[in-house]
Amino acid sequence: MLVDEQMNILGSYPDSFGKQIRIGTDAKNPLTGLTLTTFQINVGKWCNQACKHCHVDASPIRTEMMSKETIDKCLAIIKSVPAIQTVDITGGAPEGNIHFRYLVEEARKLGKKIIDRCNLTILEEKGNEDLHEFLAANEVEVCSSLPYFSQSRTDQQRGDGVFNKSITALQKLNKLGYGTRLPLNLVYNPVGVFLSSAQKQLEREFKENLDKKYGIVFNNLYCINNMPINRYLGALVRTGKFETYMETLVNAYNPMTLEGLMCRHQISVGYDGKIYDCDFNQMLELEAKPVSHVDHFDYETFVNRNIVVANHCFGCTAGAGSSCGGEVA
Ligand code: SF4
Ligand code: SF4
Repeated sequence: MLVDEQMNILGSYPDSFGKQIRIGTDAKNPLTGLTLTTFQINVGKWCNQACKHCHVDASPIRTEMMSKETIDKCLAIIKSVPAIQTVDITGGAPEGNIHFRYLVEEARKLGKKIIDRCNLTILEEKGNEDLHEFLAANEVEVCSSLPYFSQSRTDQQRGDGVFNKSITALQKLNKLGYGTRLPLNLVYNPVGVFLSSAQKQLEREFKENLDKKYGIVFNNLYCINNMPINRYLGALVRTGKFETYMETLVNAYNPMTLEGLMCRHQISVGYDGKIYDCDFNQMLELEAKPVSHVDHFDYETFVNRNIVVANHCFGCTAGAGSSCGGEVA
């Protein structure tokens, strides 16, 4: 679905996120940057999978990739801002970028915590036999989507065979110390038109079932609401469920989530060096203002900016909130 079409659909919903966050404040846009602790880099849209809910619209036919030149510009910013603690590498399947290992090694030299948003099946692809060891050797946190602890629900969302490959990859990661010595976190998003359940309870269920059936251990389960953009928005519209889902999000609006919204604490850089407030704005081509490219990055200007918002933001403020790290309130 084209970006303009998505924005029109989101804008057609009668409630407005921009108005909602102004309730009780005189500010034109009370959603401003607060800190810059996470540098999120989307290194490309190629992925070995093409999941139904993918908000990136990633797939094996996408060719957009971050160049080494742009990676070096990102590394220069990371080096110049001591407040940045975490380098969060995402895609597509980030490991598919030929400069992935270079980025990890250089960010590690800068003493940053590194997160690989890994889809697990990429670890089982030919040519990646040593990728698990590489991640472990560089103490990279692995953060992986696993829709459920059953084969049917996982394969329904992510494609046939994904569950079994994911289990194999998780077992190999466990053998290297992931889930115990090294951080291994799983991400859950619901399959239907509802919000993700209480994080701690679901985490317990995942832990019990994965341990009992497959001997797998992991650290945290992050529950993420499906964002009404890209493929998921298309599916909502096709099945006539867009209004219902938006109503669910709007009714669950929780102002307590505003402080911890990830856009207020991070930068999101696209494969071409453009800067966004978050990965979702990146997918909707809503560039950050006034700093919109790594070539012109300025810390003070960036951290004090107004966040660009639209109705998809209701996905982050519903219930306990939703971010790359799960609940925010
Ligand atoms: S693995 Fe992730 S990036 Fe790849 S298609 Fe699925 S949701 Fe999108
Ligand atoms: S989608 Fe979420 S993280 Fe992104 S700008 Fe909106 S509220 Fe912030």
